[in-house]
This record gives sequence, structure tokens and C-alpha cells, in this order.
Amino acid sequence: MESLRLLSGQEMPVVGLGTWPLKGVQCKQVLREALGLGYTHIDTAWIYENHKEIGEYLQEADVPRGDLFITSKIGKDYLSYDNTMAQIDEILTDLRVDHIDLLLIHWPSDDVPMEETYRAFNKIHSAGKALSLGVSNFSVEQLKQAMALSNAPVCVNQIKYHPAHEQREVLDWCHQNYIVVTAYSPLGKDRILDDLLLTEIAQNHGKTAAHICLKWLRQLGMIIIPKASSRSHLQANLDVFDWNLSESEMDRVNGMYET
Ligand code: NAP
Repeated sequence: MESLRLLSGQEMPVVGLGTWPLKGVQCKQVLREALGLGYTHIDTAWIYENHKEIGEYLQEADVPRGDLFITSKIGKDYLSYDNTMAQIDEILTDLRVDHIDLLLIHWPSDDVPMEETYRAFNKIHSAGKALSLGVSNFSVEQLKQAMALSNAPVCVNQIKYHPAHEQREVLDWCHQNYIVVTAYSPLGKDRILDDLLLTEIAQNHGKTAAHICLKWLRQLGMIIIPKASSRSHLQANLDVFDWNLSESEMDRVNGMYET
């Protein structure tokens, strides 16, 4: 699996498995299929309430920890110092690991000053509980604030990005500052997959509209974390490596929903 190097020096696989809203037996079944197909990157969050089943599956299947890149996130309402410190320990216990690869602030808080959260994040990072730090749903201004408070590099901003939801200003700023952008809801939660333009481009390549969304994001330099629950979708979403959209196809998808 191709990867992108984070400012921390860690390699982050370019395709990850989105795990919301997978839970229980289904979550374990999807993990079994996904890891069998070659996924090595799992995206989860405390709020998804599936850490326990992920941890159980990884232990039952005896998956070597070093083979995986695990991202988790501290929930928006738990960003006080005490809550963040408690939540990372719960995350590690439930996932049955001694560290995660990437810890994100899930959403910026309206109530807790960012200084307080970074007091906890800096401690978590220096204790080796999270090898890389990042954020999610942050604007450029919020990123600047985070970078000033974090002792470790802010490596990733995970944001909603698909052809009907562009955030070009944040994307460009992140790339100018060597921050990797992870696109969540890369398929628009499957609500844009009957779009005529995506379908037309897909037909030219013998692919699907889902492939066009994912490939477009990859060619814009983003990491993608599609959620899928069937084997066929899991397999299809890995087919983003040995073909390319042309410059004119990229241009047609760029801004296709702008008026
Ligand atoms: P998504 O990945 O854009 O879409 C998931 C939907 O697309 C599911 O209904 C899935 O169906 C379908 N699908 C998957 N592969 C397909 C394919 N090849 N062809 C057709 N349909 C396909 O939406 P998402 O779940 O919102 O986002 C992905 C991940 O991003 C989440 O799981 C989560 O890890 C993360 N996320 C993060 C945040 C944040 O605030 N940081 C917010 C939302 C999501 P099946 O399940 O039936 O296969």
C-alpha cells in the first residue's frame, strides 16, 4: 500500500477503512474482510463506540501491531484536560494497544480553550501513547492556533471532502504547510454516486462513480477513508492505484457542484 510521510516521520497508508457506523459482529466481519484484502489503516473515533470490537478482533486474529496504522479521535465534548487524559486511556484499553498511530481532535470545541486540550495532547504524545497528532474539521485559523500550541507537529487535518463538498482553501493551506489532508465521507455517503458527470467519466475508464470520487481525491493529494461493509465495495475502493484521471477529467470534476 502506498503511503504519505507525515511531519512526524510516520508513513500513513493512503487508503484507510472508515469504521463509522460499524459496530458489533458486523464491525469484526468487515475488519476480517478488509485486512484480508490488504487494508492496513483503520479510522475510528471514541464516539463511534466500536473500539472494543476492533480491539477484540485484532487480538483474536493476532494481527501484528506493527502492520497497522490506527487513527482515533477525542470527542468534541471531552476536550478538557482531564477528559482528554481519561479518554486516551480508555481508547488504548478498548483497542488493546499501548499506542495509536494518530490521535485527532475530532471537532474544535466551542467551550474548552485549545490551550487546555494541547496540554493533554502534548503529554499524550511525550508519553508515546499517540505517535502522531492531528486535528479534524479545523479551519485555517484553528490550524494556526493548534500549531502554535502543539509541541509535536500537527500532521493531519481530517475534513469532509468529495466532489460535492470541496474545501479548497483549507486543502491548499494544509499542503503549503506540509499537513496531510484526509478526506472523510469521500463518496459523499454514497449520495452522489448517480451523478451524470461522474458516471460518464467512470464509463470511459471502465470504473464506477465511486472510483472517480476516490481517484480525484487521491490525485488532489489526499488520503481517503471510505467506509464499506460489503466485500465488493471494500475491494473496489482499493482500485485507485494503476490508472489516472486526465487533467481535463480532473478539471471537470473540480468545482462541478459550484454555481
Ligand atoms: P463514505 O465513505 O463517503 O460513504 C459510505 C457509503 O458508501 C456506505 O453507504 C457504503 O456502503 C457506500 N460505499 C462504499 N464503497 C462503495 C462503492 N465502491 N460503491 C458504492 N457505494 C460504496 O461516508 P462516511 O462513512 O461518512 O465516511 C467515511 C469515514 O470517514 C467514516 O466511516 C469515518 O471513519 C470517517 N468520518 C469522519 C468524520 C469526522 O468528523 N472526522 C465524519 C464522518 C466520517 P456499504 O457500507 O453498503 O458498503
